[in-house]
Amino acid sequence: MVGVKVTKVLTDAACLDTGELVASDLTLWTTGVKVSPLAAEAGIAVDERGLIITDATLRSVSHPEIHGIGDAAAVRMAWGQIHGTCQSGLPTAAYTADTVARLLRGKTVAPFRFGYYHQPVSLGRKDAVIQFTNADDTPKRWYLKGSAAVMYKESVSSSPVPMFKMSKHMTVQVRPTKGGRATRTTA
Ligand SMILES: Cc1cc2nc3c(=O)[nH]c(=O)nc-3n(C[C@H](O)[C@H](O)[C@H](O)COP(=O)(O)OP(=O)(O)OC[C@H]3O[C@@H](n4cnc5c(N)ncnc54)[C@H](O)[C@@H]3O)c2cc1C
Repeated sequence: MVGVKVTKVLTDAACLDTGELVASDLTLWTTGVKVSPLAAEAGIAVDERGLIITDATLRSVSHPEIHGIGDAAAVRMAWGQIHGTCQSGLPTAAYTADTVARLLRGKTVAPFRFGYYHQPVSLGRKDAVIQFTNADDTPKRWYLKGSAAVMYKESVSSSPVPMFKMSKHMTVQVRPTKGGRATRTTA
């Protein structure tokens, strides 16, 4: 369930702001991430959460000389706003590195496009769930669980460091899915 607030956690249920009780045997409380006030305090245009509002090329709408990426940026695709994870942090960073280089050379920049393909979730060291998704982050039919999901998640989580080391010796082009039709028009 998204877009609802939990107002109270009981031993056997979570209480929603609608008054509804959702029964649970175990509640995992994961509501800890808050945006740094730095961008707002610096006078950069931010959304209601404090994320830098970006244009289609991930530049601040109030300060185009500032590029917003990763967890700090409110990045909108045609299907909605991407959320802060490695999955979107890496491509926004790679895109912006290319963008800065292109702008310095006086070249044009195509809008940023991104679509999700999975949501990997570790459940301790010995279990995990990998939910494959559509570009707009809605779940597909396919998922992995158990040891297959653990191996998948481990390879995803450990890939950035070897990729970075490889990139020092050769030109590695990380081009994750652009989301196909779902991202062809940027909102
Ligand atoms: C506990 C936890 C588990 C997570 N697990 C996953 C996961 O399994 N999969 C996944 O995809 N994502 C996960 N995430 C989210 C992921 O870590 C973030 O989406 C990602 O790190 C964002 O990258 P970033 O470069 O935008 O920001 P960050 O990695 O947060 O980098 C921002 C950097 O800016 C520095 N900084 C802050 N303020 C200043 C300042 N004033 N001056 C200079 N430097 C400053 C910080 O020290 C930090 O090094 C997890 C996050 C947390 C907290």
